[in-house]
Amino acid sequence: MRLSNLYTKTIKDNPSDEQALNAQLLIRAGFIHKEMSGVYSYLPLGKRVLDNISEIIKKEMNELGCLEVQMSSLQPKDIWEITGRWDDKKVDNWFKTKLYNGQLLGIGLTHEEPVIDSLKSYVDSYKNLPIYVYQIQTKFRNELRAKSGLLRGREFLMKDLYSFSLNEREHEIFYNKVIKSYNKIYSKLGLGDITYRTYADGGIFSKTFSDEFQTLSVAGEDRIYVDEANKIAINDEIYNDQNLKKLSLDKKRLVLKKGVEVGNTFSLGSKYTDQLGLYYNDQAGHKQSIIMGCYGIGVSRLMGVIAEVFADDRGLNWPTTIAPFKVYLISINENPKSKEKTEVIYNLLTRKNIDVLYDDRDMRAGQKFADADLLGIPYRVVVNQDFEDKQVELKRRNKDKIEYVQYDRLESIIS
Ligand code: ATP
Ligand code: MG
Repeated sequence: MRLSNLYTKTIKDNPSDEQALNAQLLIRAGFIHKEMSGVYSYLPLGKRVLDNISEIIKKEMNELGCLEVQMSSLQPKDIWEITGRWDDKKVDNWFKTKLYNGQLLGIGLTHEEPVIDSLKSYVDSYKNLPIYVYQIQTKFRNELRAKSGLLRGREFLMKDLYSFSLNEREHEIFYNKVIKSYNKIYSKLGLGDITYRTYADGGIFSKTFSDEFQTLSVAGEDRIYVDEANKIAINDEIYNDQNLKKLSLDKKRLVLKKGVEVGNTFSLGSKYTDQLGLYYNDQAGHKQSIIMGCYGIGVSRLMGVIAEVFADDRGLNWPTTIAPFKVYLISINENPKSKEKTEVIYNLLTRKNIDVLYDDRDMRAGQKFADADLLGIPYRVVVNQDFEDKQVELKRRNKDKIEYVQYDRLESIIS
């Protein structure tokens, strides 16, 4: 893409109405636009990052044998009344609306009830199970406080997976596979070293614990006790001697840190499936309960966390796996020879399917360098007429060193 085709512009100063570092930087760099508190639009650069994160997640989900769906955001109240989750006293962050005829509707904040209800049309036999369905969809929640930018939105993108198993054993095997695939996802996103599987409250249905995935960050709202050597943590909400013993955690090794919950996994037993009447018949024709699990990942929250934890005083700094572009290409000289060389490089890399953002604007070199840094593009390539024929300047966003390379070697270095 040529920068002259991009309508967004970088902004020099922090927006005055934004306290969170992730949102400040993402707004200044033109990745997102604030509509109101807790509500953001994703602009061309931001949309590319969001899509790249989603693709990494989708790949892992598909490898687990999960099927992708897209459920509705408008929700009928009756299925939520059956499980008792329509009541504002039980679930305090519903957005609700109504039809002209007075019928109340909910605006989707999670999808256990509707996914179960839809499966009732298709599932009745052991032969139909297991089923694993997921979606990447916008959720709506009337959060009391939304001051953390993308970390806590009133409208945000979530990956939600639901599993339906024949029995507890099969559920557990799948649950552990999800944990493994979550670890892979966070590693691919560059967060592997600072993201901890964290024991948390199992909720009202589960006898055991649930798992959260917490990324260490000073911006985090959660407090977790981390065992760095064993790469495990426990949420302070359930931190007590009894639980430490149950989980074989060593108090002496645990250090209190702040974390952002970037995902979670829950065993739900058959509470919801029983309530909503989703059963199967076993081989002997006996009616059996279906064991359910639910597994979330905060897709847009991840974009915020990644923006936040990798940023430096010059701006964003995306891991190459999710960066909106791999290369920021600059010609610092107006000399036609230099421009021509830049065009050649742009075409060469683009043909090799490397995403290049070509800064072809008529602007000072200093401004271009500053924007390359603010946008956080992993590689900066600078073309100058004074260079020997094929030589260009290559710099990584997270290193100070400048290398001089032949441009036909760029592809092998970058990919
Ligand atoms: P939290 O404790 O942070 O409110 P939650 O327990 O409500 O999270 P879930 O309902 O299980 O979270 O949602 C699954 C995932 O969606 C979370 O792990 C988190 O990453 C993300 N998420 C939840 N609420 C928000 C929000 N308001 N804005 C952005 N992401 C969110
Ligand atoms: Mg919540």
